[in-house]
Amino acid sequence: MTGTRRPFPGLRCGKSVAPYISPNLTTGNGMRNVEVFELIIVGGGPAGLCAAMYAGRGMLKAVLLERGVPGGELLNTEWIDDYPGFEHVLGRELAQKMTSHAAAFGADIRQENVEAIVRRDDGMFEVSTTRGTIYLAPAVILTAGGTPTKLGVPGELEYAGRGVSYCAVCDGAFFKGETIAVVGGGDAAVEEAEYLTRYAEKVYVIHRRDEFRASKILQERLFANPKIEVIWNKQVREMTGTPAGLQSLLLEDSLTGELTTLAATGCFVFIGFRPNTGLVKEHFAHDAGGYIVTDDRMMTSIPGLFAAGDLRVQLTRQVTTAVGDATTAAIAVEKYLKDRQTRALGVKVGV
Ligand code: NAP
Repeated sequence: MTGTRRPFPGLRCGKSVAPYISPNLTTGNGMRNVEVFELIIVGGGPAGLCAAMYAGRGMLKAVLLERGVPGGELLNTEWIDDYPGFEHVLGRELAQKMTSHAAAFGADIRQENVEAIVRRDDGMFEVSTTRGTIYLAPAVILTAGGTPTKLGVPGELEYAGRGVSYCAVCDGAFFKGETIAVVGGGDAAVEEAEYLTRYAEKVYVIHRRDEFRASKILQERLFANPKIEVIWNKQVREMTGTPAGLQSLLLEDSLTGELTTLAATGCFVFIGFRPNTGLVKEHFAHDAGGYIVTDDRMMTSIPGLFAAGDLRVQLTRQVTTAVGDATTAAIAVEKYLKDRQTRALGVKVGV
């Protein structure tokens, strides 16, 4: 069923309205295109698309803003085989299916590059884009994901999805019986190297220093695993292969500068991950890594700002967890809007 649009009481929806806009978001002549919604979803990965689908089902007047083609990390993943109902599906195909599913429920998906999210004193959010549009809504779901840190060496991008990966759970099963490498020395590298021994015959962990920063318990498990060999004091300088995929890594010794080659058909890079939270212009609760803390409704410490997917503090980051977060967030937004409306009418509500 395609949802018909129901304007949120008390708000004027659609183009060419002239609501109050913070002075710091207006241009010199004060003219910016302003559009009003009940919900703004920032980011068009699996979490954003799922939130848009649920918002459509909930008959909310919602807009999804995505700077590129919808799909997020799905577009950087060749095959997905851990999404229920799809034993083996191309990442881009799943992205298209999620996009058309959201659209079937009336999702308004726009190609817009968001530059700031600001909450006003009246509880409305001003979401400004590089095109000069200001989107206004009383609720925002931020699903902007995160970015794995890249090594930045020749061949890394060329072989991404063909041997080079940033997600062991997503791609580990493609390396059954093979010899692979893991780069990094933090918790993620050490933990994921262990995980990858379920599939790979041999896992080399390449670290640029002679000690890990990973927690001791994770290190102990790694050192006890006979399939893992640590290569200390080496940095990956180049990734090479054939059109079929990655074949080897060029390593440089951090102390002597000596160059060696390591044969490996997979290279998992875990040298940090940065949640994309820079759009939020006021303080919000986060952990030491910058991941957003939410409550069980997915609401952040900023009332009306919800977060779903990879930028949220959680145990694991999968497509399935992203859509789970988004489902909760979209349904929680409906309740938040109803409560806000009830309060505006002066009726006391229990929270
Ligand atoms: P991290 O702790 O920042 O570690 C990054 C690792 O990558 C470090 O060993 C660093 O080397 C190395 N590195 C950075 N840049 C590099 C480069 N250009 N070339 C080669 N190596 C490079 O990142 P993380 O492991 O992703 O963890 C992030 C956060 O998530 C941490 O707070 C971590 O505790 C948490 N986490 C926890 C768990 C868990 O508890 N099970 C699992 C995953 C992540 P140096 O050591 O030389 O700087």
